[in-house]
Amino acid sequence: MESIYYVLCWACHRRCKHCYEDRFRPYTGAALEAVVREAEENAPRIISHFPDTMLFRDAAAVGPDGTPAVRRGRIILAGGDVLVDPVRDRVLMPTLSRLRARYADSGGVRLVVQTTGDLVTGPIVEDLLRHGADHLSISGLDDFHTGMQGDRKDRLRADLMALFDRMGMVPGGAADGPPGQASYSFFGATPDQWIGKIWPRGRARDNSLSTATLADNFCNRWSGALGFLRHGQAGSEVAVDPTGAVYPCCLKTATPLGSLLEEPLTAILDSLAGHPAFEALSAGRPDRMGLTFGWSVEDFVQASKTTTPDGRPFANLCIGCDRFHERVLGPVIDSLREIRRRARHGVQPAA
Ligand code: SF4
Ligand code: SF4
Repeated sequence: MESIYYVLCWACHRRCKHCYEDRFRPYTGAALEAVVREAEENAPRIISHFPDTMLFRDAAAVGPDGTPAVRRGRIILAGGDVLVDPVRDRVLMPTLSRLRARYADSGGVRLVVQTTGDLVTGPIVEDLLRHGADHLSISGLDDFHTGMQGDRKDRLRADLMALFDRMGMVPGGAADGPPGQASYSFFGATPDQWIGKIWPRGRARDNSLSTATLADNFCNRWSGALGFLRHGQAGSEVAVDPTGAVYPCCLKTATPLGSLLEEPLTAILDSLAGHPAFEALSAGRPDRMGLTFGWSVEDFVQASKTTTPDGRPFANLCIGCDRFHERVLGPVIDSLREIRRRARHGVQPAA
């Protein structure tokens, strides 16, 4: 894969109203212990079902003999916030070490830690680098994150840059960087970036914050389902959550594709290859996912219309995708999962 976006744990120290996932929020006491334990128990099994190599071919960069360049993919470890205590020590650090070991003999992997920024300290950065992090992606310095409004985010950004410089890190992109050189980047929920229209998901949806329209095809871009089936090639990315559920996009479909607690990621993806609905998603055309099931593009567009909790008419292809999953694709996914399960256990297909 070029990229796996792995949400390690539901815990976060914030409860932002624009968040795409209701479960990202503060937990305390037994509830915190439950989400941390879920994350730490599931991580080894989930990682064991990641691809055997994170190398991928990039057809946009061919060598003199016409062979696509081979590049190193990345695994983005995200939350919630992975630096929340005790997620950081009980889940994040062991996961970094485990991933570093997992890919040591198969071409390596770029390990990216995504965090909101205000929990970062010098000792934590040292610990992250010691456990094998290649890149820190600071994603919460913007006016949308509680407590970051106004000057605070600018001061924190300056402090973090000074800290990273002292640690010998360099500014760079999350996608690539010189081997052995740790880097950092900032991206915010600023109107010119992903926050612009806001995904119609989680608390953002419940708070009627998305201003997306039918013209905003979140599927046909990075973080969407575009390219998810083409594992081994550039542009392939899937999202995985702390339960092991796999999704073709970070927005998450109404039904996951399968579970990495049960089976390898590539087995799941290969079982979907050639299926018209999943190929349509992988092509960034969710409006075509129902064509072979009697849903015309117009039917899909009609199913994409809804009303926001505050009473506004709203339409987006992700809503149509949810309805198609609920009415049609969910049972198809269940059936494919059962076929794979039987094949793993050597059980003859049902007559
Ligand atoms: S937007 Fe980020 S910081 Fe805010 S609640 Fe969601 S995961 Fe946490
Ligand atoms: S249309 Fe479906 S698969 Fe595509 S980004 Fe939206 S929820 Fe994900």
